Amino acid sequence: SIVVTGATGALGRLTVEELLRRTAPDNIVALARDRAKAAGLAARGVRIEIADYGRPETLDGVFAAGDRVLLISGNEPGQRLTQHRAVIDAAREAGVGLLAYTSVLGGPAATFSIAEEHIATEQALLASGVPYCLLRNGWYHENYTGALATTLKIGAVVGSAGGGRVASAARRDYAEAAAVVLTGSGHDNAVYELSGDTAWTMAEYAAEVSRQTGRHIPYNDLPHDAYVALMVDAGVPALGARMVADADAGIARGELAATPGDLSRLLGRPTTPIAESIAEALKQLP
Ligand code: NDP
Repeated sequence: SIVVTGATGALGRLTVEELLRRTAPDNIVALARDRAKAAGLAARGVRIEIADYGRPETLDGVFAAGDRVLLISGNEPGQRLTQHRAVIDAAREAGVGLLAYTSVLGGPAATFSIAEEHIATEQALLASGVPYCLLRNGWYHENYTGALATTLKIGAVVGSAGGGRVASAARRDYAEAAAVVLTGSGHDNAVYELSGDTAWTMAEYAAEVSRQTGRHIPYNDLPHDAYVALMVDAGVPALGARMVADADAGIARGELAATPGDLSRLLGRPTTPIAESIAEALKQLP
């Protein structure tokens, strides 16, 4: 079977959708923590297995020999390495045929804090001896377009990335690439640096938002601490706010700007332009 963990998350749902275009539903297993949240997936004929990365006993028996597994990284900073190790251990014990992992663009070259658990997970996966595929995902367009309501409310794009470039792609692009790897061949022990075809600056992003809305939306670049304080004021937990600002510092250093073309090669088409995701997000706004 093809097994997708984190299947009830945003990337997981899109990945299952892309798998359903390529293979029969009874080849697909979706791992979820919450059966009710997985009801939509079950309705598509996908088998649901309930498991929690944080409770290793729940991972017993969810994988079978030869399975092709996508481990979607968890979203609890500080817990992720332990959680991912539990999934890797279960996959090794079951003898899975391939374990693909959603890592971070650049892998060990990324020096911002969000990257640390990804790098450590890559090392654990390589040490496990399980056939692997590293999907080193760059940033999602949606990290930005998901904040458009706020951007328009305050009348500015705010960040701490300076003039750094970010080669983001649509979340669906990364999902499709994962589905290509899971249903294809020749990806064993491969490392893909997945990013958008075009790297843009925050000022360019703000200019495109301005163009599409007909408003003047500038980019306000803030020092790290001021950006953290602004996010905390807006209700973002302090740890998360520091990680976002820290990633912006990584962008300023050029650590999320690489455009090697691995993503468009896997897709067999160009990646989705940021302008298209902006337009799509603007249409969703009330
Ligand atoms: P989501 O937060 O939508 O999805 C995360 C998924 O992981 C959810 O399905 C969640 O389950 C699952 N999960 C978290 N903890 C556990 C656990 N202990 N046991 C089992 N499942 C767990 O994020 P996305 O889908 O948008 O992104 C996928 C991952 O990519 C994120 O988790 C994060 O690691 C990373 N990311 C990457 C970004 C980028 O720009 N490249 C931006 C943001 C995140 P449940 O549905 O039950 O909550």
